[in-house]
Amino acid sequence: MGKLTDALTRDGSIRVLLEDSTDIVREARLIHRTSKTASAALGRTLTAVSLMSSTLKNETDSLTLQIKGDGPLGSIVAVGEAGGNVRGYVAHPTAELPLNEKGKLDVGKAVGKGLLYVIRDTGTKEPYVGICELSTSEIAVDIAEYYAKSEQIPTVCALGVRVNDEFDIVSAGGFLLQLMPFADQSLIPAIEENIQAMESISLLIAKKTGNKEILDQILKGMEYDILSEHETRYECTCSKERFASGIVSLGKKEIREMIDEGKPVETKCHFCNKSYEFTPEELEELYTDAGADE
Ligand SMILES: [Zn+2]
Repeated sequence: MGKLTDALTRDGSIRVLLEDSTDIVREARLIHRTSKTASAALGRTLTAVSLMSSTLKNETDSLTLQIKGDGPLGSIVAVGEAGGNVRGYVAHPTAELPLNEKGKLDVGKAVGKGLLYVIRDTGTKEPYVGICELSTSEIAVDIAEYYAKSEQIPTVCALGVRVNDEFDIVSAGGFLLQLMPFADQSLIPAIEENIQAMESISLLIAKKTGNKEILDQILKGMEYDILSEHETRYECTCSKERFASGIVSLGKKEIREMIDEGKPVETKCHFCNKSYEFTPEELEELYTDAGADE
């Protein structure tokens, strides 16, 4: 289980969402058999979407992050449900690059240049889509810049994943710190100083530092309250019914072609690798449900 803590300074000016997402990233690694760099890139994206979706208001709301870079990993997609449960995948999970000049996993180069999409689905006809150019492609900075540019919210984001030589996830986590609209901008230097003085988030979590202790470091010198604390996990929402409606939406012509093949059709979920089989008889039923082609 991941552990997500939501804190607010007592004067109401700074909100911090902090998560230990080690178990989530471990699960993603088991499902997708990711390389070290892919584990870091997907893990950071999953942690970000978990933090961002944790504050969605309605149970049926969801938030999707799409990172479309031109690097060897290809696109990364991560979806978060209200509360912060997540699922995701990376197009080329086994892509690997040498460490960068700092001796770190080279997520920036592996993602490459491109665009970040933030898609917020709150049940309205058209979901809200925010688009921002990737800057460092290390993901945390890109998320912070997205908030600053697209939503005018001053934001600090840190994300980290530690992978050992056996490809196991040692630790993963991150935080999203946001200044409320009326907040005193002069608080920023103090926050920056606190964060500068800290060890990296993945190292703190690897050392079993609790969320409360990490918050004490981020918000050093400030009084704050913990608003909530809850568990998060990697959870796929796929089902045979969902895939069936996906097939229906292809239209009668394509379904007829599948039926004419005379063998079962296998569909596979990108998020959890589970596969669902549809027999020609089942496809006939979906054919009946499908609309006429234009
Ligand atoms: Zn699935």
